[in-house]
Amino acid sequence: MTSRVDIAIVGSGAAGIAAAVCAARAGDTTLLLDKNNSAGGTGGFSGLTTLCGLFDGEGKFLNGGFTREFAEAIAEAAPVRMGKVWVLPYRPEKFCKVATEFLASTPKLQTHWNTPLSDVVLENNHIIRLNGIVVGAVIDCSGTAEVARAAGADCLATDETTQAPAMVFPLQNVTRDLSSPAAAAKVLLPLARAGFPPLNFQASLEPGTLTVKFTGRAEQTENLIQFLRSNIAGFENCSTPLTQFTEVKRAGRMIIGQYLLTGADVLAGKKFPDAVARCAWPIEQWNSAGVARHKYLPSGTHYEIPARSLRAAKVGNLFMAGKTISADVDAIASARVMGICLATGAAAGNLAASYLESAHAK
Ligand SMILES: Cc1cc2nc3c(=O)[nH]c(=O)nc-3n(C[C@H](O)[C@H](O)[C@H](O)COP(=O)(O)OP(=O)(O)OC[C@H]3O[C@@H](n4cnc5c(N)ncnc54)[C@H](O)[C@@H]3O)c2cc1C
Repeated sequence: MTSRVDIAIVGSGAAGIAAAVCAARAGDTTLLLDKNNSAGGTGGFSGLTTLCGLFDGEGKFLNGGFTREFAEAIAEAAPVRMGKVWVLPYRPEKFCKVATEFLASTPKLQTHWNTPLSDVVLENNHIIRLNGIVVGAVIDCSGTAEVARAAGADCLATDETTQAPAMVFPLQNVTRDLSSPAAAAKVLLPLARAGFPPLNFQASLEPGTLTVKFTGRAEQTENLIQFLRSNIAGFENCSTPLTQFTEVKRAGRMIIGQYLLTGADVLAGKKFPDAVARCAWPIEQWNSAGVARHKYLPSGTHYEIPARSLRAAKVGNLFMAGKTISADVDAIASARVMGICLATGAAAGNLAASYLESAHAK
């Protein structure tokens, strides 16, 4: 049984996978733990099929390192343009498989599954132990700031007024091309007029299949599919293999760090001397009352995320990545997409390793 590790990471979604591999590659003994029984988090288990936030306005990678390595390992097709942005279509099973392979093949990295976070112990504002294991540094990749809350660190929360949950499900046997926003609008408009809550269509690698993100209630999905079949050309034979629909939560919790990234920073394309990641994804807000709002950065620009947004303000050895970085409700509505979770995860792994190196040098 492990009794001590250099770096412990809680949460094995996009952020935690990247953080764990990068921390271990830096030479530190690393433990990744998750309450689930395997790696993947939202990217692997919610039905999503597009990795967002990887590219600039021309479809070129904005971040290299592990972010690009992981994206290239799961890629089975070229990136596709969706209006003003580029996304990478992927299969969730491949996301999980590649994650598992990276974790298994990285020396100094061990995983504990079916292991909820417990017993966080602090001394002099540093976490010294969690789950009975002595730790040198901790990275919170839980999406809801579980480590930070247990450690008494200050947090901000998004809620369902701007980050409404959604059902994500595949829709098969669709013969209509919806690859441009104008083509999608011709389907979305009659749905809105019929009173359905907002939805959008995402690319899928399965032929004749779309991924639907529906900001409605589970019991409305059957009516939605029926409406599409009866009223929209190209959807006459559409169906979903799912028999149960589960809401996926967009809202999360952000840990107050040494710098709070703001929506104004995002839209101004702000740059930082201690930048660790780049992002050009818009601020995307999903209102359960019916409005999806996108605020885009000026064309050709991106913003940066500083290292200080990945370090907790009040707990000396706590780092964060993915949905928990130090950002306000507007900034996280851009930075929460998986391409950026990978980038902040990789950066947090490296930052935690550097922190331990300088702590040992003292
Ligand atoms: C409806 C919806 C649609 C989206 N669409 C897209 C999209 O098309 N493209 C895109 O790129 N992004 C999309 N996103 C955003 C993106 O999927 C998430 O923000 C991102 O995956 C978060 O990654 P993460 O690693 O920060 O956290 P998560 O993937 O949420 O991982 C957190 C992990 O922490 C674990 N955990 C939590 N609490 C504990 C605990 N107490 N103990 C142990 N383990 C714990 C969980 O089991 C989980 O495995 C969407 C999100 C939603 C909800």
